[in-house]
Amino acid sequence: MKALAKLKAEPGIWQTEVEKPVVGPNDVLIRIKKTAICGTDVHIYKWDEWAQNTIPHGMVVGHEYVGIVEGMGSEVRGFNVGDRVSGEGHITCGYCRNCRAGRVHLCRNTIGVGVNRPGSFAEYLVIPAYNAFKLPDNIPDNIAAIFDPFGNAVHTALSFDLVGEDVLITGAGPIGIMAAAVARHVGARHVVITDVNPYRLDLAMKMGATRAVDVSKQSLKDVMKELGMTEGFDVGLEMSGVPAAFRGMLDTMNHGGKIALLGIPPSDMAIDWNKVIFKGLVIKGIYGREMFETWYKMASLIQSGLDLTPMITHEMPMAEFQQGFDIMCSGQSGKVILNWS
Ligand code: NAD
Ligand code: ZN
Repeated sequence: MKALAKLKAEPGIWQTEVEKPVVGPNDVLIRIKKTAICGTDVHIYKWDEWAQNTIPHGMVVGHEYVGIVEGMGSEVRGFNVGDRVSGEGHITCGYCRNCRAGRVHLCRNTIGVGVNRPGSFAEYLVIPAYNAFKLPDNIPDNIAAIFDPFGNAVHTALSFDLVGEDVLITGAGPIGIMAAAVARHVGARHVVITDVNPYRLDLAMKMGATRAVDVSKQSLKDVMKELGMTEGFDVGLEMSGVPAAFRGMLDTMNHGGKIALLGIPPSDMAIDWNKVIFKGLVIKGIYGREMFETWYKMASLIQSGLDLTPMITHEMPMAEFQQGFDIMCSGQSGKVILNWS
């Protein structure tokens, strides 16, 4: 079958032929319809230090997708051939303390689809049936294809009560923008988003941010004054992985504020811990999505009218993957979709 794989230890991704994956007794076989390119795929494409230390030679990449169940192992219950699915990309062990307690997103033995095992940039994908998510009919394919990053946004945004609160989101990447849309949809008051990329700040305004701030041109504190915010943000969602952005967040949080950290800093990150202590801040790290409450909430949010369609700015046949990666690398995009059917 056709697939996109990391065939060389250098920047790039290559189309190749690989064996169709073998279906184990607890697995489903998914025929891929559409995939989206993730920031992680861009790290693998660019072959940064993390990718060099993580990605085995020849790995089939990709983990954001929608497809159709075409087969399943003998032990699988609850799925039928023809079911339309997306899937949770974190494969968990099932036997560690957290898995057995139902806190599966905290599994210490998590393995990543398209990172540690073959991914979805392929005609077929095999995952444990446990990880497959059956899609309600009223969720369009393009939206289903971005459920993985949407789930990062939903998990982070719904970590704290946002109703009537003032929310700061640092980083208007696809995940930050979707978090802004969620915050607005569930009833936050000010949803202020920061970035240094005007294209993405514009998209964030279309998606529900109430104020976009280019921190290379304008100070966040001035914007707060303008908005009449005298005390500070109640909730912070860090979605850039940029140390300066997190420091700016610590400066502008109100006392008793709550912060969820999703963005992955490049290395150790120094902060002024006195701000955390004397403001009495609560900080929560976020990894992936809750299985499967986040997935349930994603479907519900779309069904209750949250519209993610403006997030998908580019779509192309899979054969034009190089152009897709170029667009993602340029930063002049929301989500980019590759069509496999
Ligand atoms: P992205 O790289 O597309 O977005 C990051 C954004 O931050 C970019 O638009 C960039 O211009 C912006 N930025 C740069 N400097 C900034 C500054 N000083 N202030 C504010 N913004 C600034 O990434 P994404 O795909 O939207 O993901 C967001 C973050 O979450 C990344 O760090 C990614 O690695 C991380 N991530 C974490 C998880 C997890 O499970 N914890 C999962 C997926 C992604
Ligand atoms: Zn586990």
